[in-house]
Amino acid sequence: MTDFLTDISGRLTEIQAEGLWKTEREITSAQGGHITVGGRDMINLCANNYLGLANHPALISAAKTALDDHGYGMASVRFICGTQDLHRQLEQRLASFLGHDDTILFAACFDANAAVFEPLLGAEDAIISDALNHASIIDGIRLCKAKRYRYANADMTDLETQLKAARADGARHIMIATDGVFSMDGYLAPLDQIRALADKYNAILMVDDCHATGFMGPKGAGTPAHFGIQADVLTGTLGKAMGGAIGGYIAGPQPVIDLMRQRARPYLFSNALPPAVVAAGLAAIDLVEAGDDLRTQLFDNAAYWRAGLSDAGFDLLEGQHPIIPVMLYDAQKAQALAARLFELGVYVSGFFFPVVPKGRARIRTQMNAALTRADLDTALTAFAQAGRDTGVLS
Ligand SMILES: *Cc1c(COP(=O)(O)O)cnc(C)c1O
Repeated sequence: MTDFLTDISGRLTEIQAEGLWKTEREITSAQGGHITVGGRDMINLCANNYLGLANHPALISAAKTALDDHGYGMASVRFICGTQDLHRQLEQRLASFLGHDDTILFAACFDANAAVFEPLLGAEDAIISDALNHASIIDGIRLCKAKRYRYANADMTDLETQLKAARADGARHIMIATDGVFSMDGYLAPLDQIRALADKYNAILMVDDCHATGFMGPKGAGTPAHFGIQADVLTGTLGKAMGGAIGGYIAGPQPVIDLMRQRARPYLFSNALPPAVVAAGLAAIDLVEAGDDLRTQLFDNAAYWRAGLSDAGFDLLEGQHPIIPVMLYDAQKAQALAARLFELGVYVSGFFFPVVPKGRARIRTQMNAALTRADLDTALTAFAQAGRDTGVLS
């Protein structure tokens, strides 16, 4: 045990020495456009709270009502005694919102992705995965016996090469797996082209749309809707735009969802979602389906923010998503800028290896509909100041 802990301590020291140490700050308020940290009011630019629903009165009220009507916890997996009317209502609402036959809820999208591949595909099959896919897709694929192929991020030539290879290797079924939005860059997967290649090679298309559901595409139905295509199997989260609490799902054709209910291990061996979370999820869908006001506010904010940072002289990644990364390349620079911004009342987070490649450190800013124009102006002034103070801007 002593040797073991000495080794672990050595690894911790290495992480610190490389400037890759992550710390957690404690927020004492609710999540929102403004948060309280260390007694100070701060503008928050790093939550996945795209539509500002994390502290929305309609969700809080739905959750409170469900606590009274349906209790606190389920103390059961779904198939024993953990399914309430609310769970099935949410699954059906999600299915119609997303345009699929049915959905199945999980504790998180991490679990949905860990669940989705193994029951659907066997050793005779193939999965072709984008190189930048989320860690949960990578882990889910590891749990599945299908043969693995990988294509360079959003590279359609490489995808076609891998499709040909899988066909030449005699795959029975081929599944292409991709994020709808690559969250470190805010880039969209070219789902129109991926769909066309999937059809050409008779492959199944699986899309993880965590950073898009609720706000990308017509009616907020996500990246497939943005490109006017349909994914065959879709996974997503309630933990980002759809209220920001917890919960994930798989949407797809009825037989796929039925098999998941029989065989998906993170579903069969893990607790049902709490009713308050499920009821607030239903309230989130109500708001998302009610109209485009929140989405319009979000994208107006994103355009204003992007233009402001660019005018100030920051190096941004191009894009059309409310993820707007400010590139610093060097991990320590990213941390220094984030630290100075923190002093100036703006909460952002530096991203560096291992969440992005070495030499690609950045501050990932994310817009949300809860921020006002005045908030954005305050934050832009702070960015310009911090940029000068840290030598990022000349
Ligand atoms: C956030 C995220 C997940 C994990 O979702 P949780 O519901 O928080 O587990 C999975 N995939 C992608 C692409 C994500 O961005």
